[in-house]
Amino acid sequence: MNPGRPSILVVIVFVATRKRPVHASRAINQSVPMNYQLIPKELRPIAEKVETQQRISDADALTLYSANDLNALGIIANVVRERKNGNCATYIHNRYINYSNICILSCQFCAFAAKKRDAHAFEYAIDEIVKAVTDALPLGVTEVHMVGGLHPTLKKEWYLELLRRLRTLDPQLHIKAFTAIEARHLAQRVFKLPIRDTLEILREAGLGSITGGGAEIFDPIVRDQICRGKETAAEWLDVHRTWHSMGGRSTCTMLYGHIETLDHRTDHLRQLRQLQDETGGFTGFVPFAFEPTQSHGILGHIKRASAFEQLRNLSVSRIYLDNIDHLTAYWVSLGLPLAQVSLSYGVDDLHGTILEEKIFHMAGATTPQQQTIGALEHAIREAGREPVQRDSHYRHISHRSAGTSAAPATAELACA
Ligand code: SF4
Repeated sequence: MNPGRPSILVVIVFVATRKRPVHASRAINQSVPMNYQLIPKELRPIAEKVETQQRISDADALTLYSANDLNALGIIANVVRERKNGNCATYIHNRYINYSNICILSCQFCAFAAKKRDAHAFEYAIDEIVKAVTDALPLGVTEVHMVGGLHPTLKKEWYLELLRRLRTLDPQLHIKAFTAIEARHLAQRVFKLPIRDTLEILREAGLGSITGGGAEIFDPIVRDQICRGKETAAEWLDVHRTWHSMGGRSTCTMLYGHIETLDHRTDHLRQLRQLQDETGGFTGFVPFAFEPTQSHGILGHIKRASAFEQLRNLSVSRIYLDNIDHLTAYWVSLGLPLAQVSLSYGVDDLHGTILEEKIFHMAGATTPQQQTIGALEHAIREAGREPVQRDSHYRHISHRSAGTSAAPATAELACA
């Protein structure tokens, strides 16, 4: 073993030996004392900034990204994590729907998209989608999460009828749908209206929030190589800026672990942090690593990001994005065991039950397509955190019994 790079075994030992009672609570905003003995000299100035709630610089982020002391990164990230979220770790009970994979673009990293003629192309009828959601409601889901390709022929009426019928099914069900890229596609090619007007019409029909996908990596040169023809960073950011100015909330993402450099990752985080300073509309950050199983061309040689790299990226993101409250570990990409470990590396949310994931699985992901609430809560408890079900804006809710309305039960915001 390279002595400079602790193995995942060491990481897990670190988690297992943390002295924390399973139900220990700590008030949010209360500083967690940092043990500087465990922080290498070169990281201590950054650790001091974090402890005194000073913003870290891009140069600091690059220092952190180059650090091999993963446990030190976890300790620093944990200060931010516990300051913002105490000992809670959340999850959402949600149902994923991919309405179609037919797409006018051909992003190089995407194994999900298809052209109409392709054997793996699919397109669900509205009735089929409504049935899938109808079947999920008695399970207690509070959110339907719906994204698809940039479909060449679906009409404005199709999208509006879909939203309206889902809204009619259960007015309390949160409909989280469409990436910023889909929103621009709908505005420009389908609705033929400005972004704001399009988002207003979608919201009127039932849209609760837009999703964070499509950000990939903001750098234009990398973007041109991995998703040529896709909207620019400025355009992605502008959709979220517009949505936030309408009072909406959204999540944000980063696709890493392909051809980007650490500078590109830092630049991506910087642009998210800047927009958040401006609008305050991002509720959570969800980074995910490139899934290389089906990749070819410029991405053909890429190997899957290691567990070490994924934990390091989560830790640095937590430390850098001081103005975004939540950091989600996307278990579909990480796998639940590593997502569990990440609860000690800045993460405070394990995403959701999902019920049926297609995008990563069509790219070759070998993780399950869904999780039960029991499995998510068990993973959280085992990591010494307090499990709490959340809504689409990361607000704590108590458990809903299966078969009840999608309305969240009384808010329980006291968990710390
Ligand atoms: S990532 Fe999205 S926009 Fe790009 S090809 Fe896949 S479905 Fe289409």
